[in-house]
Amino acid sequence: MYSFSGLSTTLSSSKYGCWHKFYCRYVLNLPSRPGLPLIFGKACHAIIETAIKTKNSHVIPFLCQAVASVNELDTEELLECVDIPPVQKAVQTGGGVEEYFEMELDDSPFPPVLRGYIDFNQKTDKAVILTDWKSNRAAYKPLETYQLGLYAAYLNKKYSLPVIGRLVFLRFNTIEEHEYTDADIEEAIGWARDTAYECEARKQKIEMGEDPLNVFPKQPGDACEYCDYKYYCLSEIPAIPEVISSKEEALEVARGIMFAKENLKLHQDRLKDFISKNGPVQNDLVKAVMEKSEYLVFSLKARLAVVKKMQQDGLNVGGILKIGSDAQKDLREKHGWSEKDFLDLGAVKRSKNNLDISKAG
Ligand code: SF4
Repeated sequence: MYSFSGLSTTLSSSKYGCWHKFYCRYVLNLPSRPGLPLIFGKACHAIIETAIKTKNSHVIPFLCQAVASVNELDTEELLECVDIPPVQKAVQTGGGVEEYFEMELDDSPFPPVLRGYIDFNQKTDKAVILTDWKSNRAAYKPLETYQLGLYAAYLNKKYSLPVIGRLVFLRFNTIEEHEYTDADIEEAIGWARDTAYECEARKQKIEMGEDPLNVFPKQPGDACEYCDYKYYCLSEIPAIPEVISSKEEALEVARGIMFAKENLKLHQDRLKDFISKNGPVQNDLVKAVMEKSEYLVFSLKARLAVVKKMQQDGLNVGGILKIGSDAQKDLREKHGWSEKDFLDLGAVKRSKNNLDISKAG
């Protein structure tokens, strides 16, 4: 039986995600060992789940304190994520919480079965609204992964109603939404089915004696941060060639860099964990300390008030507020602006060359 987290991938990265994760989960059956980001995400889910089930948003601050102290997390960081309008609205309106499902992926005699938990869903007369709480540090659109498409497949079959999928990004208090069409659902199921069969085929190759690391290669990338097996998988990094004289060596270096980057994050998480519990460490050569950085968060109302005050004070609003990549993305995706609109308004196009190394499909 497959779960979405085992099959997960982003569509922009590769069709199947990291094969080694499948190996750890479905071949070695290794116990999962979540890192800090995953522990934080699970803590957010537990708090939201309890608040919705008890229909009481007043318990959120107390739950944050309790969950933070048990898991050694930052209470304020948790509270900032879970005490937001979309969560409060879910507590008020109520709905299905953490619904477990199993779904056969085709009608063959021994079909692959997908299982999962749906964070929150609400059935209305016209549609089912499916919500997934995300504690990620970067937002993305529902169609950038197949996760909600698979949940939509299950809910659509269960209720025979259209399904609207919502990703609620807790750190930013933003919602990305998509109404799933039959084609979206078919595509998601097709992907899960292909992935499950491909995994079975690879398992057979191992049974025939092929090297597991070739059949289920490690493919480090952004997904490592949330991978249950990173402590096992990233503890060693492959040697990186000292000299690059061929494309093969260049590829080895690129792969080595990906490993080194993820390995570094792993060590940083470990150190952060140790110092949070035991205090700073220092000798003649190095010092490591947790430093609290404070920052301000502005609601829409606060942002408008800031702009109004700048205008009242006669300040040059355009000179102070920068139109960064997030604002450009919002204007393009939510308000239909194009690059030409920016250029017509006087923006200047510049370019620079960056080294971009990512997981290949
Ligand atoms: S840590 Fe990264 S490379 Fe290793 S199994 Fe997980 S996703 Fe794959």
